[in-house]
Amino acid sequence: MVAAPPDLLRDVDEILPGVVADRRFLHQHPELALQEYETSRFIVDRLTQLGFDEVRTGIANTGVVGILRGGQPGKTVALRADMDALPIDEENEVEYKSTVSGVMHACGHDAHVSMLLGAARLLTERKADLPGTVMFIFQPGEEGAGGAKKMVEAGIFNDPKPDAVFGLHIWQDTPSGVVEVMDTVAMSGIDAFQVTITGKGGHGAQPHTTIDPIVVGASIVNALHTIVSRSFDPVLPGVVTLGTFHAGQASNVIPATASFSGTVRFVQPEQAAVARERFESLVLGIAASFGATAEIAYFNGTPATINTPAMAQVVRETGIALFGEDRVIEGKMKGPSEDFSEFMQLVPGCYFFVGSRNESKGYIWGHHHPKFDIDEDAMATGVSMLAGTAMRYLETQR
Ligand SMILES: [Zn+2]
Ligand SMILES: [Zn+2]
Repeated sequence: MVAAPPDLLRDVDEILPGVVADRRFLHQHPELALQEYETSRFIVDRLTQLGFDEVRTGIANTGVVGILRGGQPGKTVALRADMDALPIDEENEVEYKSTVSGVMHACGHDAHVSMLLGAARLLTERKADLPGTVMFIFQPGEEGAGGAKKMVEAGIFNDPKPDAVFGLHIWQDTPSGVVEVMDTVAMSGIDAFQVTITGKGGHGAQPHTTIDPIVVGASIVNALHTIVSRSFDPVLPGVVTLGTFHAGQASNVIPATASFSGTVRFVQPEQAAVARERFESLVLGIAASFGATAEIAYFNGTPATINTPAMAQVVRETGIALFGEDRVIEGKMKGPSEDFSEFMQLVPGCYFFVGSRNESKGYIWGHHHPKFDIDEDAMATGVSMLAGTAMRYLETQR
């Protein structure tokens, strides 16, 4: 095993106040997916101040890629942070509260950006001895906007093509400062759907003259829940959730249409394919059996985030070398999805988690909650893990 760089934690402590200040600035100025213009400028300024060899901007609208070429020959490793905030009105009363009404960094992407900028600073200071190249990816539009795929399509992996990619998410269910790593599946994949059923409206007392889209819809909803229980291999996790169902306006009227939407979560692409096929045949078949019609819009989201075991091991060893075995735990797959998976379609890598929960300080609210806030002390762990993992990877590959 490569030993922990002895000076790394000391240097992290030194730069941490700046990292926290950056996070608070970004927290005050949140921007929605693919509109992160100020955030993008902020990142470019920082990288330019650090004297980066190359800074590419405007990728997928607001994405930024910084390239740091080490003084020694070696491989290329990519580190990624996502940049976007959410359409949520912040309910925290803190001095760094969001200044934009209805927009909030409620997932922790403000911390991701500032931690990656911190890692960029630490690695720049070690540039002369660095055996290889580090690509810093600042990705817009993670929250359902497909930012990762857009960056890949824009060619960020063409030159240089990284040999490995790493990223982390601050995680509010995990104790502050604990590093959580999975060998394979880290997060589920997601597809989404939207359906409109058209029947025939009429008087609530004369159902025989109508085709009731609510009854059709209810039958479809029940049947859709058999996709997981009857069509997925029971050893593989999966979820079908309907998040909306809308129909009708009056209690004594049978409406003409009903509509619903939802998501399918899965880990394997075969599950996604089976789910789509079963979905379409259930919706169309049941609607037809009632004499109704159904219009389906089905959206391919992102694949599951599946780590490469050897890359998970690099993260694990980095964590143990820096913080000891007690601070590194074997993670459990997370139900939500993450488009970091798009990068790992092309390059081996690992997406891991750094705990930010601190009950005694009151940081207990989950991601996407209007009271979400993190224990900023965890950011020292995040910065060290990003810089440490890149260094360890390059050193073990030289
Ligand atoms: Zn989120
Ligand atoms: Zn997130």
